[in-house]
Amino acid sequence: MTEALERFLSDLDAEIRKHGNWGEVADYIPELARVDPAQFGIAVSLADGRIVTAGQARQQFSIQSISKVFSLACVLGRIGEQVWTRVGREPSGRPFDSILLLEQEHGRPRNPFINAGAIVTTDELLTGRQPKEALSEILAFVRAAAEDDDIHIDKAVARSEAETGFRNVALANYLKSFGNLRNQPEMTLGTYFHQCAIEMSCVQLARAGRVLAGLPDAPRLLTALKSRRINALMMMCGHYDGSGDFAFRVGLPGKSGVGGGILLIAPERASIAIWSPGLNVYGNSMMGTHAAEQLARRMEWSVFGS
Ligand code: GLU
Repeated sequence: MTEALERFLSDLDAEIRKHGNWGEVADYIPELARVDPAQFGIAVSLADGRIVTAGQARQQFSIQSISKVFSLACVLGRIGEQVWTRVGREPSGRPFDSILLLEQEHGRPRNPFINAGAIVTTDELLTGRQPKEALSEILAFVRAAAEDDDIHIDKAVARSEAETGFRNVALANYLKSFGNLRNQPEMTLGTYFHQCAIEMSCVQLARAGRVLAGLPDAPRLLTALKSRRINALMMMCGHYDGSGDFAFRVGLPGKSGVGGGILLIAPERASIAIWSPGLNVYGNSMMGTHAAEQLARRMEWSVFGS
């Protein structure tokens, strides 16, 4: 199977490079606006411990919202079910930075993967601690999951977002007005921007995702129940208002980031990371989504059956 997968990924890489309809890079974060959209990498970590790659699989990129999966994992480890008093677990059907439902739902964000929800989980991680400590916990989790210490935060990206992330400033202040932010908005946001600015390659991200795929060689960082639940949230909410379309086309839990990354989980089979910085209208990687769809179909990995 590994050889067939290798061939398939290398053909996919060639096809995308020839015909790529790349989409637009996220331009509301100036550092990300400078990235060339016409890039592609993929890494598949398999249950037998092997990792198959194609394209720019070792190039590091800004994981952005994919970090929300790891911060949620840390919060679940810390306070467990209590987190659901502050954030819901329903799809929002709204863009990633939407404020609309917050008023209606009295400051309790719909889920931990939209920005408002992730700001709340980061705020929870900050409780009684300094930003440095909360960030160290997230980084430690990611490094342990990937079994790779060479994973860092790109401070220029964090600074860039802090200068222009006005929507997130609005969300944090609005959450605070409802009493759903414990820390000062600037402190929670500073931490959130830094967690989003973690840089990883597809190989590192695919390795980190093994804990969610429940692969035999994955470090034991999450209980099976927790990873099932995170996967359910990724399926329902991992691609914002494009989550339904992603589930329809790919049939696997996934989490996107505006840096163009996608973490895709084929439970008990594989952990996959894809990167292509050009985005579609939902802010999800255009060619990454295409690649995820082709891969899931070719390998018959959809959770809805082969
Ligand atoms: N840091 C980004 C923001 O808050 C993350 C969004 C994303 O990756 O979808 O706007």
